[in-house]
Amino acid sequence: MITAVFGDALLDPVRAELTPDAVVVIEDGRVTARGPRSTISVPADALKLNAEGLTLLPGLVDCHVHLRSQGTGRDLTDWLGTPPSLWVAATVPAARLTLEAGFTAIRDAGGTPAGVRMAVERGIMPGPRMKIAVVGLSQTGGHTDQHFMCGVNIAPRIPDVPNSVVDGVEPMRQRVRETIRAGADWIKLCTSGGVLSPNDDPHHATLTVGEIRAAVEEAATQGRKVMAHAQANQGIKNALIGGVATIEHGIWLDDDAIEMMLDGGNALVPTLVAPLWVIRHADEGRMPKWAADKGRAVFDDHKESVRRAIEAGVRIAFGTDTGVGPHGSMGEEFLLLNELGMEPADCLRSATSVAAETIGWKGEVGTLEPGAFGDLIGVPGNPLENLELVAKAANVHLVVKGGEVVKERAA
Ligand SMILES: [Zn+2]
Repeated sequence: MITAVFGDALLDPVRAELTPDAVVVIEDGRVTARGPRSTISVPADALKLNAEGLTLLPGLVDCHVHLRSQGTGRDLTDWLGTPPSLWVAATVPAARLTLEAGFTAIRDAGGTPAGVRMAVERGIMPGPRMKIAVVGLSQTGGHTDQHFMCGVNIAPRIPDVPNSVVDGVEPMRQRVRETIRAGADWIKLCTSGGVLSPNDDPHHATLTVGEIRAAVEEAATQGRKVMAHAQANQGIKNALIGGVATIEHGIWLDDDAIEMMLDGGNALVPTLVAPLWVIRHADEGRMPKWAADKGRAVFDDHKESVRRAIEAGVRIAFGTDTGVGPHGSMGEEFLLLNELGMEPADCLRSATSVAAETIGWKGEVGTLEPGAFGDLIGVPGNPLENLELVAKAANVHLVVKGGEVVKERAA
């Protein structure tokens, strides 16, 4: 199948350049040509898609999503009444909303079983391309330990998601192997406490450097990299010393941590909207007090750290922790990054070329170079001049994935 999408303009985020009167040709799911209509010969049998009034750009990439979390806050009574199968079923609308917001590729940061990725790949349900971590691993009492002090463990028991709690170097090796066996493309570790966990403190480092290093080694032997939920300063540093590839959240960066990231070429995935959503849910009474207090306490420091990282030139890969906030709302992160000093072109690169390189999809997603997946979006105007165009799902009028239209809104 050949599809030719004709837009008012084509935006290349890498060069921050607009090509007027552009066409993108997609054949069997991959881009074969793109550029000004006058120079591209469109095959006669191509399905011609008129995207008049729209600027075309590569489909967006979110490096930190949890499709299995519902994004509606945390009501523990609701949670207790949710069977594991319902958690999985809820990924169906989550994946569709993600795609309709213009995010044609994601990295899922834990909780989502491999069957969800396979269902999208097999066309059983619409959704973005995804690389998945399957489970976020933490120590006893760490960020993904859902035991409460009363003795109850509220972690949903999805059979093909391994146990998230692990202690010790050898058990870590085994758990990483189990996680890869369960279909993980990435290994996710929690090297500090977090906001939405009952027993820990985001200021405290968790897992030892030995445990982190063991996970990195085991992942590497099978061609995987490690992403670290790392909020505490020492948790960030331990993760970097242990050899992880990406730092998620990075709430308390100091000059040393920034220097280490610059030296190692590590990406920071800020997820600025996540604490914002914790606070919003809390304001609506949909967040336990302990989580609301932690969310409010970290928000300003988080922004300050990310501002410093942007200024220092740390690689910033777009990620939102959506699943804390509602699915499809992730574009708001663009506005927060911009507010902290990131130029619009850099904001767009963070969610296209930089994100693709970070999660291991360079040249395939986040670009419309020939050979890439035929994933593109259309917005009514130039997002370099107005980031709102990519910040709200309603502004994304056209979404094409692999040459197939998955969202089309009348102009
Ligand atoms: Zn997360």
